[in-house]
Amino acid sequence: MEKTDIVIIGAGPCGLFTVFEAGLLKLKCHLIDYLPSPGGQLAEIYPKKPIYDIPGHPVILAKDLIANLMEQISVFNPKFTLGERVDHLLKREDGIFEIKTSLGSEIEAPVIIIAAGLGCFEPRKPEIENISEYENKGVHYIIKDPELFRNKNVVIAGGGDSALDWCIFLAEITEKLTLIHRRSEFRAAPESISKLSELVNQNKVHLHLNAEVTKLHGNVALQSLTIKNEQEEWDVICDQFLPLFGLSPKLGPIAEWGLNVDKNAILVNSIDYSTNVPGIFAVGDINSYEGKLKLILCGFHEATLAVQSAYKIIHKGQKPSFKYTTVTGINKF
Ligand SMILES: Cc1cc2nc3c(=O)[nH]c(=O)nc-3n(C[C@H](O)[C@H](O)[C@H](O)COP(=O)(O)OP(=O)(O)OC[C@H]3O[C@@H](n4cnc5c(N)ncnc54)[C@H](O)[C@@H]3O)c2cc1C
Repeated sequence: MEKTDIVIIGAGPCGLFTVFEAGLLKLKCHLIDYLPSPGGQLAEIYPKKPIYDIPGHPVILAKDLIANLMEQISVFNPKFTLGERVDHLLKREDGIFEIKTSLGSEIEAPVIIIAAGLGCFEPRKPEIENISEYENKGVHYIIKDPELFRNKNVVIAGGGDSALDWCIFLAEITEKLTLIHRRSEFRAAPESISKLSELVNQNKVHLHLNAEVTKLHGNVALQSLTIKNEQEEWDVICDQFLPLFGLSPKLGPIAEWGLNVDKNAILVNSIDYSTNVPGIFAVGDINSYEGKLKLILCGFHEATLAVQSAYKIIHKGQKPSFKYTTVTGINKF
């Protein structure tokens, strides 16, 4: 089983910054996130929105803040396990935690920092009767590796940013790409909508508005699907179907780990953001205490204090010495 000093559950901004503060104390971190890339809500919900309340940045796009955080922590070489949900958390008699993910990865550490935000983002699934039969056999709700779709007959369903962004990206590599949207208007960035109409004019995307996918067909793996609009119903060849209707957060397995939880948030002591289970801390949107504000900068502060106490657990009561980065710089591992 892989070992580290701190397992961080959630690679949103607060989980990422935890790596930096832990790194300054020479603590190694392993981040796990259910999403295929780091960034949490900033990457998933509002990558192109400007944020105005990050100290030292009069304005910064959400995706740029994540890119900067990734650069800032790279010096500490954090490990990432992405596209896997932490399902099981067990405390052994020797005080070490064992973590198991949805895909069977196992990691052990003396400290766990939960930075799980609003919880796991679960895909919103369309109501197609037999869709579960084809999950991972041609149906994907999250795109982990776009190469899977090269030279394939792909159908995307959805009309938001995610559906349009992937449509624009995949149009260049697929054999045939079809976009199905159940309305006549899109809910996406204007530049994405105009890029899409260019692709439709060039015949690189086959667009069907006011239509939906009603049935999937195939022998084990997906081979075709049925599309229906107000007038007619027809089948198209389809190797890969991507229903991209967004993701909704769910607390999920965290609720089963013996932590004090109130209204989908983990109750913490605001001195060091420790939970009721010694060795487990919670930072960022996932925690709750008197006066809590769900802001990125508050999560950064919480992470900074949590790793001070984590250090004492990992070094058996020893206190970390306080230093300014201007004085010591950032020591590489
Ligand atoms: C539209 C919008 C605008 C916003 N604007 C601002 C703003 O201007 N300023 C500001 O300060 N804040 C803003 N916020 C709030 C800010 O985005 C959150 O405070 C911030 O994202 C919290 O970061 P986090 O790291 O705690 O959690 P998140 O960003 O939610 O990341 C948590 C991560 O944990 C993962 N996860 C959860 N459970 C598990 C599990 N069991 N296993 C594996 N992974 C798991 C999730 O997949 C997710 O990636 C805004 C939010 C929204 C929605």
